[in-house]
Amino acid sequence: MEFRPLGRSGERIPVVGMGTWAVGNSTGEQRNNEIKAIKRGIELGMKLIDTAEMYGHGRSETLVGEAIRDSRDEVFLATKVSPEHFSYDDVIRSCEASIQRLGVKFVDLYQLHWPSSRIPIQETMKAMEELVATGKTRYVGVSNFSVEQTMQAQESLPKSELVSNQVRYSITSRSIEADLLPFCEKEKIAVIAYSPLDTGNIPISRLPKDMLEKYEMTPAQLMLNWVTYPEPMIAIPKAGRISHVEENASAVDVRISQADYRALSKRFE
Ligand code: NAP
Repeated sequence: MEFRPLGRSGERIPVVGMGTWAVGNSTGEQRNNEIKAIKRGIELGMKLIDTAEMYGHGRSETLVGEAIRDSRDEVFLATKVSPEHFSYDDVIRSCEASIQRLGVKFVDLYQLHWPSSRIPIQETMKAMEELVATGKTRYVGVSNFSVEQTMQAQESLPKSELVSNQVRYSITSRSIEADLLPFCEKEKIAVIAYSPLDTGNIPISRLPKDMLEKYEMTPAQLMLNWVTYPEPMIAIPKAGRISHVEENASAVDVRISQADYRALSKRFE
């Protein structure tokens, strides 16, 4: 697995991790399979796991906690606080509740899930800095923040670095290329791509067959290889099936050439 810097933190994290939206909502066989899929992903090096208090009202965090029980120290654990909990006290309470559901002592990355127009970012970030100071999270990130909101978030963190912004990015969803991606590249903020497989709508017929053959990649692997080509990108595909997890874990074993990256980018413009 290839590793990339987490912003300016000095930490390096796997370039392909695992998303966990919509996991943990089932029981029995399906639940066991979701746990097995995460464990397999960890085994294969996808040791960045992303969840959120919002996913299944905490059920995703509970399942992730179960899946990482024997491997907590190996995993870089990221979760998120929802905007309705952005007041100072609620941020602290939410983080503690997530930690409890995950069954851990701290999380590695605590992210603001969406910007809030209701609570000033300064108040929310004050609580995030308190969580860093008390060791409840190691790093602070945001999600779905525009350039301007990212700048405000940075300015509201006098004692910590803003290490990441998690946003939608895939070969079929590229709005961040206009300004957010170059901004984060310049500011050395990691960009964590969510829905990197366009939520499973893989544009198989539009991906060049000769390229898939040349690199011996599946369509999903080529999408993940493309999405993580720019320097600050990290991808967190979600896969409930072990066969998908295995495919995703080896998506960047080989890198496509710059010429092929450019050709592919142009094809999907
Ligand atoms: P995604 O990762 O783009 O796509 C997931 C879908 O792709 C699932 O249906 C999965 O099927 C399928 N898949 C996975 N690997 C595959 C492969 N190798 N071949 C074919 N199909 C494959 O979509 P996502 O779940 O929306 O995004 C990923 C993660 O990003 C989420 O789980 C969540 O952690 C995060 N996210 C964050 C936000 C935010 O606001 N911050 C928003 C959305 C998502 P199976 O499950 O059947 O394997």
